Amino acid sequence: MARVYLTHLDWALTADREDRQLRDATLVVEGDRLVAVGPSDEVLAEHPPTRADSIREARRLGATPGFVDTHVHLSETLSRAVFPDNLATRAWVFHWAKPFYAHVGEADESVSVQLGATEMLRSGTTCFLDMGAQNDPGITVRAAAETGIRGITGRHAADNKPTEIPRGWSQEMVDHHFFPNHEVALDVLEQCVRDWDGYADGRIRCWVNIEGKEPCTLELHVGARALAERLGVGTTYHIASNVEESEVSERRYGRHPITRIAEHDGLGSNLVLAHAVAVADHEVGLLAGHGTSVAFCPATSLKLAKGATRIGKYPEMLEAGVTVGLGSDGVSASGNLNLIRQMYLVAGLFKDARVDAELVGARKAFRMATIEGARALAWDAELGSLEPGKKADFVLFDLDHIEWVPFQDPLQALVWSVTSASIAETWVDGRMLFADGRVTTVDEPALYSEARERAAAIVERAGLRAADVPVTSSLYE
Ligand SMILES: [Zn+2]
Repeated sequence: MARVYLTHLDWALTADREDRQLRDATLVVEGDRLVAVGPSDEVLAEHPPTRADSIREARRLGATPGFVDTHVHLSETLSRAVFPDNLATRAWVFHWAKPFYAHVGEADESVSVQLGATEMLRSGTTCFLDMGAQNDPGITVRAAAETGIRGITGRHAADNKPTEIPRGWSQEMVDHHFFPNHEVALDVLEQCVRDWDGYADGRIRCWVNIEGKEPCTLELHVGARALAERLGVGTTYHIASNVEESEVSERRYGRHPITRIAEHDGLGSNLVLAHAVAVADHEVGLLAGHGTSVAFCPATSLKLAKGATRIGKYPEMLEAGVTVGLGSDGVSASGNLNLIRQMYLVAGLFKDARVDAELVGARKAFRMATIEGARALAWDAELGSLEPGKKADFVLFDLDHIEWVPFQDPLQALVWSVTSASIAETWVDGRMLFADGRVTTVDEPALYSEARERAAAIVERAGLRAADVPVTSSLYE
């Protein structure tokens, strides 16, 4: 098979075990894999190109692994800047996001997924963990697969409806969103995994995903992980995502949410907990002991006032050996699907909040966005670093862009100076999916105009322009 040589890259940040930073590096791609990564003289001597190979000199480019987003909602992409920005998590979820999601039809969801994948590819994200489809997951799977991106999805499931149905919810929406009990939910989720896990030559995986927290019973939290283990896949859900949720759990059950799940054998290494902001000290040890991963979503914490810098235990989790990845969440929750922004935020939030320049920083932030994210998704044997044998998922940065003029240390420049504006190319599975300012697999102008129309229609149908949509919530209390 003909190989593609990217020779004499100015640098490559490998995120491998030794965290090697190569200068004058060469990458060799064969099919969907990297077959060589190293200093140019060594690679070219050990793997001399043949006449069939294509050779590109890449002197003014730098390479990183593709970014791995450990928490996104692809069905939320049409809700950008719709809800007010004075909402805390519970009002945001129950009175705004749920009515919005309820009016995302099948065709809307397909557009939403393609738009989200487009934003991710443009900002260097090559793999995602999506919370799951609002409709048939086949729609999400096919729409994501068509763009060429890699990722994991599922069916967004819940089984615990509130005792009173709030304003903006319809009976139809409740019936669609809530399964009658955890057993029915788990049957449907098992079928989703059987139908869709391994789609598109394994580029798309399907997990046993549930919404988590108040809208799910304890049995569904615990059962989802057990089912995932039986099926050999993972699961993810929201938990301890805000202070009120933990306080309600404390009041009702005398336990913090993660402790309660741990007491019922609910933690394990095939589980990714989204947010995990309101975590008690001893719960950090529980997560580490069970090998449970966390998806930290810094931009959502800022926008929805979750308190990550005030109560979050992320530096302690890192210290205890918990795998912590980064999530951009949804475009309403956080404002964007850009993992470079999350990397920047996590590098600095805890330095500032605790007045300690040693906390997190550029190197850890970069690893959270790459190899640690891949580890959370149990996909690190193939993703997350630039190493021979791994999938050819990587990002090339244009070093002639103002963001890179001048620089000494590429890692510091990447985390502290760079946005997605200087991304030249994004590759997934050995395919160049973003280059020359456009996503190669999507008709972007047509997608954008359809997205605008559909977004406006959803807002109208969901009644989210009305002045009386609540901005606080006491649901489930
Ligand atoms: Zn979420």
